[in-house]
Amino acid sequence: MVEKPFHGVRISRIGPTRLYPFTRFFRGFEKVPTVRALFGKNTSRVLRAQKVEFFSARFGYMGTSDVDGHLIISSRHLKESELRTVYLDLVHELCHVRQFRKGRPLFYPKLSYVDAPSEIEAYRLTVREGRRIGMTDRELWEYLRIEWITPNELRRLARRCGVSPPGRSARAKRRSR
Ligand SMILES: [Zn+2]
Repeated sequence: MVEKPFHGVRISRIGPTRLYPFTRFFRGFEKVPTVRALFGKNTSRVLRAQKVEFFSARFGYMGTSDVDGHLIISSRHLKESELRTVYLDLVHELCHVRQFRKGRPLFYPKLSYVDAPSEIEAYRLTVREGRRIGMTDRELWEYLRIEWITPNELRRLARRCGVSPPGRSARAKRRSR
C-alpha cells in the first residue's frame, strides 16, 4: 500500500485482522438442531470454514462482517457475560452467517435495529433455540432487552418473536391453571 506523506507522517490505511477458525473456540454447534436447520447437511463444513475475529474494546458484543461473513466477537463479552447469553448470541450470529452466504443484506441503515429483516429472522431463531434449552418467556424477554433499544422497540421485537411481556405471561399462566 502506498503511504502518501501527510504532514510529515505516513499512515498505512490497512489494519490487518487476525482471523481464527470458529471450531477452535466453539465446539459441537454442528449438533444443535437450530444450527442444523440453518445449514442442513452442510452444517459441519460451514462451521469448519467459519472464521472468527476477537476484539478487546470495552463495548460491543458480537457481529458478523458483511464483507466476508466472519464473526466479530468481544473478548470481554465472551469472558464475562452469562454463558447462556453467549450461546444464544452465537446462534444469532450464525443466522447472520447464513444470510450473508445467501447474499442477503445484514444491515438496513434506513430501518431501526428491531425492524431489520435480518435481525427479526435472527432473533426468531434465537428465541426458538432459547425455548428448546428450556428458557421461559420471562428469561427470553430479558435476553431481548438490549441496551440500545427503546421499551417500545423491545415490545415490538418480543411480539415478532412470540415472546410475551412478563406481566401478561403470568396472567396467561394463571388462566390456564
Ligand atoms: Zn443480529
